Amino acid sequence: MNEHAVLTVLGSCSGTEPMPGRHHTSIAMEYCGRTYWFDAGENCAHAGYTGGVDLFGTEAIFISHAHMDHVGGLPHLLWTFQKIARATEEGKRRLTGRNIEIFLPEMRPWKGLMTFIADDAGEYRGPFTLMPHLFDDGVIFDRDGVRVTALHNDHLGAVEPHASFSFRVDVGPKAFVFSGDVKHVSELAPLLDGIELLLMETGHHAPEEICAWVKESGKQIGKLVFVHHGRRILYNYAGELEKAQRILGDRVQIANDRTRLEL
Ligand SMILES: [Zn+2]
Ligand SMILES: [Zn+2]
Repeated sequence: MNEHAVLTVLGSCSGTEPMPGRHHTSIAMEYCGRTYWFDAGENCAHAGYTGGVDLFGTEAIFISHAHMDHVGGLPHLLWTFQKIARATEEGKRRLTGRNIEIFLPEMRPWKGLMTFIADDAGEYRGPFTLMPHLFDDGVIFDRDGVRVTALHNDHLGAVEPHASFSFRVDVGPKAFVFSGDVKHVSELAPLLDGIELLLMETGHHAPEEICAWVKESGKQIGKLVFVHHGRRILYNYAGELEKAQRILGDRVQIANDRTRLEL
């Protein structure tokens, strides 16, 4: 059983048209026999299951905001839990009777996805229960050595009152931050003290500007890993990495689909 948190990037792309070898945003964290999801882009269930992420140990799913590149794979993820709970011996053993919690900043997508997985009466009847939670700023989850703190961001085009959320995840003695979509990296500042890892979206930013801000901020950030790539990285991976590393050295990395990170 892993006592260090292991993060698997299941999708490293922002909301572009389909890109070869990359899928929309999703990250799975495995810690002490339990699995937690941060965003659920298009392909996360398939990539996670075939890539060795322990879907059977799923405790909770955290959604930063309801844009399709962050939530499009959620119905399929919940459907996949149903499938493996019924079709596999391990699923019958480990998922039956469980409770899976889903944290959402608005309930509109929940109503939509229930039309896929609920019965005609609108009830979900599975071998496990699904419990949706509407969240806002603050600590939204604190159990089994994992504490998740949400902070809203500015992000045009998402539903009011808050456009998108970022999450600080304290896991055992360590911590990382998963950025939602932000207008400026400085919005994350209250979450960043003493973290091992910042998973930062670059769909709306120049990577070297993020690096320069991190360097100037004085925040203790062990490692900066870019996710949710926009066209700058998609079209010029090597050049953008070189520019970023000129500022932060080996502390900065650009994630690919299936990149694994240990805290
Ligand atoms: Zn996005
Ligand atoms: Zn967005």
